Amino acid sequence: MPDVLIIGAGPAGLAAARAARRVGAAVTLLDASDELGGQYWRHLPASRPAERENLLHHGWSTFTALRAELEADTGCTIVRGANVWAIETREGRPGAVFVVVGEPDGANREQRVFEPDALVIATGAYDRTLPFPGWELPGVFTAGAAQALAKGERVAIGSRVLVAGAGPFLLPVAASLAATGSTVVGVYEANRVKALMAGWLPKPWQVLRAAKKGGELGGYVLNHLQHRIPYRLGTAVVRAEGTDRVESVTLASVDALWAPIPGTERTVAVDAVCVGHGFTPRLELAIAAGCALDGDDFVGVDEQQQTSIPSVYAAGEITGIGGVDAALAEGEIAGHVAAGGSVLDAALRPAVAHRRTYRSFGRRIEDAHGVRAGWRGWLTDDTVVCRCEEVTYGALRGAATATGGESLRSIKLASRAGLGICQGRVCGRTVEDVLDSLSPGHSDGPRSAAEDRVRTDRRPIALPLRLGELADEPTLS
Ligand SMILES: Cc1cc2nc3c(=O)[nH]c(=O)nc-3n(C[C@H](O)[C@H](O)[C@H](O)COP(=O)(O)OP(=O)(O)OC[C@H]3O[C@@H](n4cnc5c(N)ncnc54)[C@H](O)[C@@H]3O)c2cc1C
Repeated sequence: MPDVLIIGAGPAGLAAARAARRVGAAVTLLDASDELGGQYWRHLPASRPAERENLLHHGWSTFTALRAELEADTGCTIVRGANVWAIETREGRPGAVFVVVGEPDGANREQRVFEPDALVIATGAYDRTLPFPGWELPGVFTAGAAQALAKGERVAIGSRVLVAGAGPFLLPVAASLAATGSTVVGVYEANRVKALMAGWLPKPWQVLRAAKKGGELGGYVLNHLQHRIPYRLGTAVVRAEGTDRVESVTLASVDALWAPIPGTERTVAVDAVCVGHGFTPRLELAIAAGCALDGDDFVGVDEQQQTSIPSVYAAGEITGIGGVDAALAEGEIAGHVAAGGSVLDAALRPAVAHRRTYRSFGRRIEDAHGVRAGWRGWLTDDTVVCRCEEVTYGALRGAATATGGESLRSIKLASRAGLGICQGRVCGRTVEDVLDSLSPGHSDGPRSAAEDRVRTDRRPIALPLRLGELADEPTLS
C-alpha cells in the first residue's frame, strides 16, 4: 500500500485525499491552517460555529461530506497547523518533506519529516492586488483578505466600502461584505465590455456545460439588485486618499489596456476599499521540489496531474486559476493516480470531464478579466511597490538603472524589493512585472525576470522559520 502525502487541505487536497483512500493508499493530509477547507471553504472554527455557515458558501455540503469521510477514516492521518517549509527531491523522486507543526511563528513547534512514496502538492494561490498611490493606507484591503475576514471571522472591513479590480471574484466578495453589514458603494471592473465578450462569448456550448456557474452568477446578480450595488466596467481605483486611514478613493475610466483616461477622474468617499486583480499560484514548494513551470508560470502537469518529477503530482490553483470545480476535479485525478490508479479508470471519467470543462472556464476568466499592461500608468514615483521594505516605484526604477541591467537578483539586492517579511508573496509578481517592463525589449532596463531565471518565489525555505527550528533534529514520521 503506497504512502501518499498531500500538502494543502483546500478543495484540491481534500478531493485528492478521498480519491487516494478509495484506491487503498495510506494518506497523510497536511495543512498550515487549523481548519480544513482552504480558501474557498474558509469558515468559523468549531469552537464558535455559525448558525448557518452555508450562507456564505457554495457547495458547503460537498465540503462537509468530504471532511466527515476523511475525519472518520483511520487510513487518513490529518495534521492541522502543519507548515511545510522545504521539500527535497532525491534522484528525481519525492524525497524528504520538512514540516513544523504548531502556531504560525509559535514557540516550541514540533519538527517532522515525511518520506512518502508519492506527493500531491495542492497549495493554492495568493490573491493579487496591483499597487496604486495610497494603497498602503489602513482601510485598503486586498479582495482575498476582505473575503477571509468575512468568511473566517464574520468581520466587516468597513461600513461604506468600494470594491474594485478585475475578475469574477469581486462578486462573491461584494456579496460577503453585504452579508456582514457593509454598504457596498459599487463594484468596479477594470476590463471593458469588449474584453468580457472576447472571453465569455466564443463557443457558448462550453459555458453551458458549466451551468452550475450560471446559477452562482444569477445569485450574485440578485444580490447586487437587492443591495442596490452598482457594477461598472472600464473603471479602476487609481488613488486612495486619507490622513490616518482611507477617507476616499479616486476612480478613473481606463482604456482597453487599463491606461487611465485623462479627465475622467472622480472621487468617492469611503471608509474602506477592497481591491483584487486575480490570483497568483503559490509555487514555492513546487519549485523547491524541482517541478517545471509551464509557459504561463503555473506548475506544468500531464493528463495524470503528474509534474515533471515522477511521483510528484499537483492539483488546484497552482496548475492554473480555474476555481473550486477545477480544483476538485484535478485533486481527484491526482490522488487516484498517486495511489496507483490510472487516469483511464472508469471511476475517473466524471472528474476528467469536469477538468476539461472547468479548465476552459479558467481560460475564459483570464481572457475576459486578465491584468493588462497599462496599469503602470497609475503609478507615480513615490507609489510604494514593496510594502514590507517600503520600496517605491521610483526607487525600483533607480535601482534598475544603477545596477546597469544586471538581473532581477541584483535589483532585489540593491533596492530590497521582495526581501521583507512577506518574502515577495504580496509584491513579487508586481516587482517582476515592473522589471520586465524595464527590460531590453521595452527600454534600456535590466534583463527580464524570465530571462535570468531568477524568481521571487524560488526560495529554499518556503515559510518564515526560527533559527532554532532550523537547527533542531526533526522526527521521521
Ligand atoms: C485569500 C483568498 C480567498 C479566496 N476566496 C474565494 C472565494 O470566496 N470564492 C471563490 O470562488 N474563490 C476564492 N478564492 C480562490 C480559491 O483559492 C479557489 O477557488 C479554491 O479555493 C482553490 O482550491 P485549492 O485547493 O487549489 O487551494 P486553496 O483552497 O487555496 O487551498 C490550499 C491550501 O494549502 C495550504 N497550504 C499552502 N501552503 C502550505 C504550506 N507551505 N504548508 C502547509 N499548507 C499549505 C493552505 O493553508 C490552504 O488551505 C480565494 C483565494 C484566496 C487566495
